[in-house]
Formats: sequence, structure tokens, C-alpha cells
Amino acid sequence: MQHDLVVIGAGPGGYIAAIRAAQLGMNVACIEKEPALGGTCLRVGCIPSKALLESSERFEAARHDLKKHGVKVGGIELDLATMLKRKDTTVTAGTKGIEFLFKKNKVTRYQGHATITGANTVIVGEQALACKHIIIATGSVPSMLPGVEFDGDLIGDSTTALGYDKVPEHLVVIGGGVIGLELGSVWLRLGAKVTVLEYLPQILPGMDEELCAEALRLFKKQGFEFHLGAKVTGARVESGKCVVSAEGLDDINCDRVLLAVGRKPNTQGLGLENVGITPDKRGRIPVNSHWQTSVPNIYAIGDVIDGPMLAHKAEEEGTACAEYIATGHAHVNYDAIPGVVYTHPEIAGVGKTEQQLREAGVPYKAGKFPFMANGRARALGETAGFVKLLAHAETDRLLGAHIIGPRAGDLIAECAVAIEFAASAEDIARSSHAHPTLAECIKEAALAVHGRTLNG
Ligand code: FAD
Ligand code: NAD
Repeated sequence: MQHDLVVIGAGPGGYIAAIRAAQLGMNVACIEKEPALGGTCLRVGCIPSKALLESSERFEAARHDLKKHGVKVGGIELDLATMLKRKDTTVTAGTKGIEFLFKKNKVTRYQGHATITGANTVIVGEQALACKHIIIATGSVPSMLPGVEFDGDLIGDSTTALGYDKVPEHLVVIGGGVIGLELGSVWLRLGAKVTVLEYLPQILPGMDEELCAEALRLFKKQGFEFHLGAKVTGARVESGKCVVSAEGLDDINCDRVLLAVGRKPNTQGLGLENVGITPDKRGRIPVNSHWQTSVPNIYAIGDVIDGPMLAHKAEEEGTACAEYIATGHAHVNYDAIPGVVYTHPEIAGVGKTEQQLREAGVPYKAGKFPFMANGRARALGETAGFVKLLAHAETDRLLGAHIIGPRAGDLIAECAVAIEFAASAEDIARSSHAHPTLAECIKEAALAVHGRTLNG
């Protein structure tokens, strides 16, 4: 055999799996169709969106917040070209970093579209690679919507919205999910009017409903316009402008449309039919608890299988799948995978939501603490939001943590570790948290589970 393992796709699932397998002594190849490594996450997802979120937040702060701190600045102007260039530089640094890691770990890289032709053969270009194992990590692509005349430009997706060459006067976002709110925030801060059309009665489906309600209130204050319960039925370009139709609403005229109604697994041209693997109704590759497909030496991980479409979920699966192939055992704790929305304020959750616990009939106690009562949050001028911890009513074990507020995405890490270690609310409440830090809100929320906050 030419390779012990061939990994298809160099996103966070695939490149991490390749590196971990190489560390474990396997002869590994990774095939990526794009010229740059890193997948959706690095090229057109997590990293470029966070670069623009950071830049646009600084622009917003310079215009509105600095004067509250006694910092006077004049002549603030947007230089969009530089902002976009900085985003591209951030991406390139990351893709080069993975090239370096592949060399360091002796992962052989192939560029081209991979097709599986047999249980032990993958074709890339003119080459046929023989291998003992295959990991499919081909990720996902944006979902389309019937009636929406997608042109990848005026009516585009997240990749289009990462590169608008001028600030739209009016941007309509179809879908009040993570992409719509993150990229909507970028263009709102840069001066666009942003209208979000969401099919469901709430934004950010799947997250704890109390957080979603608070987020909606705060986003409206920032200037977002929302139409909830609005099912979009069409969008078209007429004379260089866009027209969006939704049930129950008059047609909306705007100059850009961002279609963000979810993503679907990417298995196009992969050759699954050659080995008898059949995707499920939603296009996902079915796998068992060890990421094995119906062909035991072919595995699948990341966005192309069931579960949240998150980079760190793909990474955990990549690591565990490589370890399973090498050692015969590995595990991912799906209850301890956090989700973060990088808006302002940030929104984060890990473990079960209140709705899930109620539905499952699990007795729980909630402890809540507002950032308003935290000294560090007041010093930062970032007092909106709260921490909510959910613990089992009898055992006190932490079951879920939900945060909306400053640096929620960083704060949630403590809660994910607590869930991983099966900590109780009391364990967190009795752990010393440095003062003054935002993390003290987590300690106070843990105290609140037992009705004994000290500062609230
Ligand atoms: P991908 O990253 O999609 O990688 C799959 C790779 O496989 C691609 O490079 C593709 O070119 C390649 N490929 C596909 N088919 C073939 C083939 N036949 N042959 C060769 N190569 C092939 N997640 C977070 O956790 N945090 C975030 O902040 C975040 N922000 C996001 C922002 C945006 C705008 C988007 C779109 C997504 C974001 N995500 C975020 C989601 C995250 O990007 C994905 O969950 C993650 O990239 C999935 O990793 P993956 O390895 O499964 O697939
Ligand atoms: P999403 O599933 O988060 O949101 C899509 C939204 O579109 C939903 O609220 C849905 O109800 C709505 N919708 C569907 N059909 C509609 C219609 N006809 N009219 C109006 N609304 C409609 O999907 P997304 O925002 O496209 O993101 C895709 C994936 O990328 C997500 O699964 C997410 O995990 C991942 N992502 C993660 C991050 C992050 O972790 N910070 C950031 C961006 C993307």
C-alpha cells in the first residue's frame, strides 16, 4: 500500500486528522481540491469572518465608544480596501501555517479533486493512491433556497459577503442564524441598513431561548431590523437592484442579499456510489460511533456527517478518528462542545439548554448572574448580558452553561472543561476566580444555583 491513510479535504477536520495520524506513525496523504489548505473555516469561514468582525468592531468603537473613555478622535473614515486586505493577510498566514505543519509532520499533500473508486483506492487527477484507510472530511457548502436567484454577487452567500467592495446601502439577510447575524453585524457596523428575514419565530435556533430573546433585544438596539416568522419565497435582481419576497411581507428592495439559510454536506463527485455508501435524507454520510461508514475502512468526520457544523467539532472528530484507526479506541464527548456566536456581545453555550432539559424531564436548578453586577464588566463598559448555569437538581452536576456578554466565547471554555470533568455547580462556586475578571460571573452564577450569590 502506498499510504496507510488518505484524508480527503484539508479543513479543520481533515488537516487535524492527517497531522494526528502522522504523529501516531502512519504514512498519511491529504488531498485538497483548493490551492490553499484550511478548508471553509480558514479560507472563507471562521477566520476571515472574525477578522472582519474585529475590524468593524474597532471602527464602531472609534466612532461611538472612545469618547465615553475620554479619548477624542476626529476624522474617522472607513478604508474598506485595507480592512479587506488585512482579512486576506490573516487568512494567508493561517494557510501557510498548515503547509508548514504538513511538512513538519511529513503529511504528503496532493492538490486536486479526490474521487473514491474502491475501498482502498482514491483518484486525484491522473494519480491513483492505494491506501489502507480513507477519512472523508469534505465539509459543507451553502444551502440554496427555491425561488432565490443566486448569482454569487448581488444575491450571494457568506463568501460573497466577506468581500463586498463597498458598503451596501441596504443589505437583506435571509436567515437569522449564525452567519446572518455575524456578517450582518459586520456590514451594519460599517454603515449598511441591515434587514434580517427569519422563518422561525426566534433568531439563532438551537441556542438557549432566554439568550436568543436577550440577543434579539440587543441587536434591535444596535439598529438591525428583524422580520421573524418570515418565510422567504424568492429573490431576484431587477435593473441592478435586488427584490426579496417573503410570505406576509411586501416585497423588499435592497442592493445586496446575503443568503444564509444553513449549509449542506459536500459529497459532490466524491464517488460514494463506487463503494456503496448512501448519504441520508439530508445528504450526510451515516457513520457509527467510531466514524466508520458502511465500508469499515472508510471513515467520515466534520460537517459532512451529523452534528453541529463547527470547526472545533470537526477537529475533535479528526483527532479521535485518527486515534481510533491507530489504537482501536477513541471518544468525543458531544455534550462538551461549545457553540459561540461572535456578535457584540458574544453569545455562547455548552451542554443542554433549558428547553432540552424540560423536554427530557430532567430536574434542574438554574443560577444566573448579570454582567452589570461585575466590576470588570463595568470597567470595560460592557455590562449587557448574563451567565446562566444549569445544574442537576439532585446531583448538582453541571448540565449546561449559557452566556451572553463580553468575551462569552472565551468564558465558555471554563464551562466546557467543567462539563468534561463532570463538575458540580459547587465545584465551580468553590474555585477561586481572579478579581476583577469577567470569569467571576461564572463563579457567581454557580453560587446562584444554590441561591447564595455574594455580589448580586
Ligand atoms: P471544511 O472546512 O468545509 O473543509 C472541507 C475541505 O474539503 C474543503 O477545503 C474542500 O475544498 C475540500 N474538498 C471537498 N470535496 C473534495 C474532494 N472531492 N476532493 C478534495 N477536496 C475536497 N465554525 C466555528 O466553529 N466557528 C466559527 O467562527 C465559524 N465561522 C464560520 C463562518 C462562516 C462564514 C462559515 C461559512 C462557516 C463558519 N464555521 C465556523 C463553520 C466551519 O467553517 C465548519 O464547521 C468547518 O470548516 C468544518 O470543517 P470540515 O473539515 O468538516 O470541512
Ligand atoms: P443556521 O442554521 O445557523 O441559520 C439558518 C437560518 O435560516 C435558520 O434560522 C433558519 O430558520 C433560517 N431559514 C431557513 N429557511 C428560511 C427561509 N425560507 N426564509 C427565512 N429564513 C430561513 O445556518 P447559517 O447561519 O447559514 O450557518 C451555517 C452553519 O455554519 C451553521 O450550522 C453554523 O454552525 C456554521 N457557522 C458557525 C459559526 C460560529 O460557530 N460562530 C459562524 C458561522 C457559521
